[in-house]
This record gives sequence, C-alpha cells and structure tokens, in this order.
Amino acid sequence: MWVSTFCSGDPSVFEPYWRKNGGKCTITISGHDSLSYFSDPNSVCWYMEPELQEAIRRVHRVVGNAETEGCHVVAGTGSTVLFQAALYALSTSSSSSVAAEPMKVVCAAPYYSQYKEQVELLQSRLYEWGGDAETFDGSAAPFIEVVTSPNNPDGSLREAAVANKTGNGKLIHDLAYYWPNYTPITRPADYDIMLFTLTKCTGHAGSRIGWALVKDVEVAKKMTTFMQITTIGVSKDSQLRAAKILNVVAEDCEQHAADADKTFFGESRKLMAERWEKLREAVKDKKDVFTLPKYPKRYCNFSGRYFQPAPAFGWLECKEGCDASALMKAHNVLTRGGETFGVSSRYTRISMIGREEEFERFIERISGIQCVDEEDEEEEEEEEGLVVMNGNNGGDVIRLGNGTSNGHGKWLEQVEVQ
Ligand code: PMP
Repeated sequence: MWVSTFCSGDPSVFEPYWRKNGGKCTITISGHDSLSYFSDPNSVCWYMEPELQEAIRRVHRVVGNAETEGCHVVAGTGSTVLFQAALYALSTSSSSSVAAEPMKVVCAAPYYSQYKEQVELLQSRLYEWGGDAETFDGSAAPFIEVVTSPNNPDGSLREAAVANKTGNGKLIHDLAYYWPNYTPITRPADYDIMLFTLTKCTGHAGSRIGWALVKDVEVAKKMTTFMQITTIGVSKDSQLRAAKILNVVAEDCEQHAADADKTFFGESRKLMAERWEKLREAVKDKKDVFTLPKYPKRYCNFSGRYFQPAPAFGWLECKEGCDASALMKAHNVLTRGGETFGVSSRYTRISMIGREEEFERFIERISGIQCVDEEDEEEEEEEEGLVVMNGNNGGDVIRLGNGTSNGHGKWLEQVEVQ
C-alpha cells in the first residue's frame, strides 16, 4: 500500500494551529446568502466581497509585506487563475487585437513548473512559453517575465532577471511565499502586479482564494473580464470565509504587535524553523551526497528580529551525475526532480509544509541514507537492497513534492499539485 499525505505544495503544516484556534473563524452562511453573482457593482472587481477586499488590505497593512495603496484588488479561485488572468491582460493590447507573434512568457530557472504548464495548456495565440529568463534575449519584442519571490522551488529572493534590463518586459510578481512564516519581511513589496494566495499565507488551500494587487486600472479590468468569462467570479462563500480568516489573523497581529511570536505568523515561523533545523541536522553528514541552500539571516520588520528564511520547500542538490529524485526514490521518498523546474536532475524538491508524521518519517529516511561509492552500492543492492527504512519499493512510500492526497490518507495517483 502506498501511504502518503505529505504532499507537494499542500500546506497541512498549519493544521494543528487551526485545530487549536479555528473556532474563531467560524462563520454562518444562511440559505438566503450568496444568491447573486454580484458583490460590489461599483468596484472594478464587481464579484469581490467588500469584506474580503478590506481584510486583504488590513492583513498587508499589519504584516507590512505589500503596498496596497493605489492598487486595485482582483480576487481569484486561488492565485493560479489570476496568473492566467494576468497573462491575458498583459498580452492583449488596448485595442484587443491579437499580436502577430505570441508574447513570450519567461521565468528564471529553477521556476515553478506550473507556469510552463499553464502557459502551454491552451496553445494560445496570445502568449507562449519562452523558458529561462536568464538566457532569454528580451531585446526584440515585448515579453512577460514572472518573478517568484521567495522562489518555488529553491526559496531564493528574486528580482526581475531580464525585464528591467531591456525595458521590453511586463512583470508579474508571484509573492505567494512573501509572508513572515517563511521569510523575513524586509519591506513592503511594491510592483505593478502582485499575486498572493490564502493557500500559502494561512494554509487554507482548499478554500481556493487568491488575490492580485494591480496598479493599472485597465489591467485590473482585463483581469476581471478574464474571470467573468471563464468563471463569472469567485465563490462568495469562500470569499466570506477567507475574509473571516484574514481578519482573525490581522486582529491577532494587531493585538500582539509587541510580541509577534504569539501570532499565527510567529507560531508558524517557529514550526517551519524547527523543521528546517531537523532537515539540516539530518543532512549535515551527507555533504558527499547532497547539500541544501544557505539562506542569510535578515531583519524582519514584522517580527522585529533577525531570522533565517525557512522556505516552504527544500531544494536538494546532489553531486554531478547523480539523479537526485531517483536517489530519494531508492529510499522510498518521492520528490519532484529538477527537470520539472527547468534545471538538471541533480536537483530535487521536497515539501516542508506537509503533515507532521510524514515529515518525521521523511527525516528518518533521509537520515538513513548512507554515503557509499557506486561499486559498493551495486554489491549492497544485490545483497539486501540499499533501500533504507524497511521498505521494498512497493511499500511505504513518502511523497514530497510529487502529488496530492484526498485528505483521507488515500493517494490520488492522477492529481498533481505543485
Ligand atoms: N504560486 C506559487 C509560487 C505556488 O507555489 C503556488 C501553489 N503551489 C501558487 C502560486 C498557486 O496557489 P493557489 O492556486 O493555491 O492559490
């Protein structure tokens, strides 16, 4: 039996916090609520509940991670759909005529693999995947660059790789992980299009609420049009729940302004830091096999202290010639290999935001990986198998970064969540 709920980007890590504190987030939705498609006909994003818009502005204000003044807020069913809405908005001219050539969409590698998949899904005439921004020559035609910071998969903090150099690029900033549970908040982000999501902020991936902060009203209108045509808005029930959760988080931050450790973000940061400590401890004597990136300490304006980032994913680098995800698989840990993110198979991504028991099992297994040279390896495999952690390969397998569960301990083989 394949047992795993330690899923890719599934943020179950915060579940214990919400089990303890979730009561505050209860809302009642009556039978007569949410009948209309419309929420706020006077707002650019007419399907957006005013409570959600206010809660989003409030939480950014208290956390200090994004400038919302002068921005329009566009809601989405997760930020995934808002990425597509932004592509649509940026690749259609104001006369809405289709350009002769599709606009290239680029992102510095390693990049979040869903961008490529989303760009290519509908084989659009408006835009197409242009690959790694670092090697892209942006001098010829307008293009779109996606900047993910902190980055999925490697946790690095990023600025535009090419768009600012050539002046031809339009930027989408995906700031899904720019929250103090993962990284120090050094300044309020202030870009033309900024994408955020409840999924990584509070861990409520299943509510499917994301939002875009957009400076240009025409872009915000086009993104809203995309949402109108594809889904006629976003579930109001989810919006109201998200507003409640964000207000609870914001209130908590306001109440504990002098001691951020007591807030949701403070507690979550501690948890993430503990996981990173365990991971670093588990790999510290395995430098011959793989290494993890180092993240310098920075001052977090929200927390009022220096700390090291504790990204949502671990990015393992193996020595030249080694296939990192195959190595992990041999130890019954399924991860997502580097090629998916536009780089070599020497790298693989592991999720740091899954459930506790799976994380602990993962740590046990990774601790058991032994450094053996290849000749010894063959011999040992013949003898009793190098696979550490009791497993034969059809047995008890942990997946880190490679799929999802249905939340009841059953693996959904067909579903890929990143
Ligand atoms: N951007 C990045 C960088 C992500 O990692 C994710 C989730 N894995 C998303 C966007 C999408 O999140 P959602 O659609 O759940 O809001």
